[in-house]
Parts: sequence; C-alpha cells; structure tokens
Amino acid sequence: VRAYGGHTGFLPAFGFYVIDDISLSASQMYDRAILAQETVKGNYAVRCAYYSSDMKTRLENNHVLLAEVQAGLERDEFIYYLQPKCNLNTGKIVGLESLVRWKHPEKGIVAPGYFIPVMESNGLITELDMKVWEQVCQTLQDWIKSGHKVIPISVNVSSVDIYAIDVVEHFKNLVRKYGLPSEYVELEITESATIDNNEIFNLLEQFHTAGFKILLDDFGSGYSYLAALNRMHFDTIKLDKSLVDYIGDDNGEKLLNSITKLAQSFGMEITAEGVETVEQLMFLCNLDCDDIQGYYFSRPLPVKEYEECLKEACM
Ligand code: C2E
Ligand code: CA
Ligand code: CA
Repeated sequence: VRAYGGHTGFLPAFGFYVIDDISLSASQMYDRAILAQETVKGNYAVRCAYYSSDMKTRLENNHVLLAEVQAGLERDEFIYYLQPKCNLNTGKIVGLESLVRWKHPEKGIVAPGYFIPVMESNGLITELDMKVWEQVCQTLQDWIKSGHKVIPISVNVSSVDIYAIDVVEHFKNLVRKYGLPSEYVELEITESATIDNNEIFNLLEQFHTAGFKILLDDFGSGYSYLAALNRMHFDTIKLDKSLVDYIGDDNGEKLLNSITKLAQSFGMEITAEGVETVEQLMFLCNLDCDDIQGYYFSRPLPVKEYEECLKEACM
C-alpha cells in the first residue's frame, strides 16, 4: 500500500498478488503486487487491484501512450470540438459542449476514449483539461469581441481535477482573465465523481456562489445514487445515452419518466444525451425534457465549422 496526494489529502492505493507460482522469489511477488497497485494509482473511485498476467503488457502499452500524450501536450496538439444542445420547446441552440480531440501528426483526429483513461490514471488529465478550459474561454472572449452570438459552453471536469487543484478558484480566475460572465462557462461533473465525495457539496455551493452552472454528467451510466439528487443541487442532469437507448422498451420508458419527474421536482433541468432517432426525440418531447444533445441534431463540430453553420442558419 502507498499513499498518493492531491490538494485534499492523501489516498491509499492497494495492490495484491495472490500466490499462484511458488517458484517466484519474494521480491518478484512484491513487484507483481506493485504492478497491480500501479493500475489504480491516482484513481479515486477504485483503490485496490489484484495482479493478473495481462497487467504487465497493459502497463507497458500505457507507458508508451503516456509518453506520446506528453509530447502531444508539449506540441499543443489538443483541440476541442463543439456539440450543440437544442431546446425542445424553441428548437434553438441553447448550449454547447466542448469535447477534446487530439490532432495527432500521424493518426489524424483522435477521440478521447483513446487517451483520457490513461491520462486520468496518471493525473496528466488536469494539465489537458486546463488547456481545454483556457481555449474555451478564449473562444468565448473572441465571440464577445467580434459580436458573434454567445452561447454558454460546458466543459468536462474530470474527477481527478477536483482532487488535484482548487477548481473553484481556477474557474474564477479564468473568467476574470478573459472578462467573461460566469454563466457562459458551465461545468460537467461526471456522476462517478459524486459518489463517496462529501466535498462535492461544498464545491457545488462555492461554484453557485461564483455564478457557475453545474451539470451532472452521465446520469444513469453507473450506480446512480438517487439520494444524491436530493442532497446536491445540480442545475442540470444529463441523462446518459444508455438511458436514452431504453426508449422503445416499456419498463425503460417508465424508468426515464420517473427519473425525469424526480429531477424536475427538485428544480433541475434535463438534457438527454446521445439522441439519435426521431422516436427518441418524440418520446423526450412528450416527457417535457428540456434539451437534447446527439447526432440527431448535430455531431460534435470543429469550432470554425460550428461558426460557419451558425452564420448560414442566421442568413
Ligand atoms: P461525454 O462527456 O458523455 O460526451 C458525450 C460523448 O458522446 C462524446 O464522445 C460525443 O461525441 C458522443 N456523442 C454525442 N452524441 C452522440 C450520439 O448521438 N450518439 C453517440 N453514439 N455518441 C454521441 P467523445 O467526444 O468521444 O467523448 C467521450 C468522453 O470523453 C466524454 O463523454 C467525456 O467523458 C470525455 N471527454 C471529452 N472531452 C473531455 C475533456 O475535455 N476533458 C475531460 N476530462 N473529459 C472529456
Ligand atoms: Ca460531458
Ligand atoms: Ca455524458
């Protein structure tokens, strides 16, 4: 066991090796336990792991990828795309989500599923996120200066960031630096970050006092903690795509109906993610869901492309 620190304190990480090969020396067994432990280092949700034979290869691959990602960060190869959120009552774009992309010199545009897990396990994600947040604020400032229509942009905040830096202070400084009203920058905090984390209550309060909106991301993707909805005041609940995909199934629809009613009774807005079909759209309309986000309406777009689309739509 070892402890790893963030600004909120130290967390233990446990690695186990169950002896299945008695020919190994004590130090080799110890190394295997350490390997297992490395897979959960910096992971705030999972704190222990058992050694398995594929861990060694996985860790070696991760180390190669991490070195590549680090070089990419130094060369400023990370950009972000924007995906619009559409209000179901007005049909208008009411928000945008920033989604990071790696402009890889050989692989082209790489989606975050490839590099975020390894960056989260090593803590490098915070450096990346801070770069994305800064780029987003720069764009908002450019829009204000050029008289472009300004729509709030939500940014993704990894649970790692919450432990690694003082996020509230960071965002307050960012909006001050770029001269932005804080309601233009919204924060998406994933559901898993709210589990086991009493600090999130204080965090929400501090963000609200500073005028930021907080969205609960991926709701329904894991072990949804319904009691948390009562105790934590999120401004918006983002229904995970896995829930939206229930549409068409009788029980699934009942579940969506109840979750939406519950969240709305707490005064929270609902955004449905991953909406792809007209059937899903119709169902969500009837449910009085506030906004939708998904390929049905628009894929995530490069910033320039989004600006062009908006110009054409206004002409
Ligand atoms: P997320 O925050 O839940 O973002 C939604 C994901 O669903 C995005 O994938 C988006 O492209 C995709 N999506 C949107 N509409 C549809 C649809 O109709 N159908 C399908 N099948 N997919 C749809 P993406 O861009 O690959 O991002 C994946 C995840 O990576 C994000 O999930 C988020 O958790 C993480 N991520 C993205 N950008 C950032 C970032 O800047 N910082 C951090 N920490 N995480 C990020
Ligand atoms: Ca998100
Ligand atoms: Ca999500």
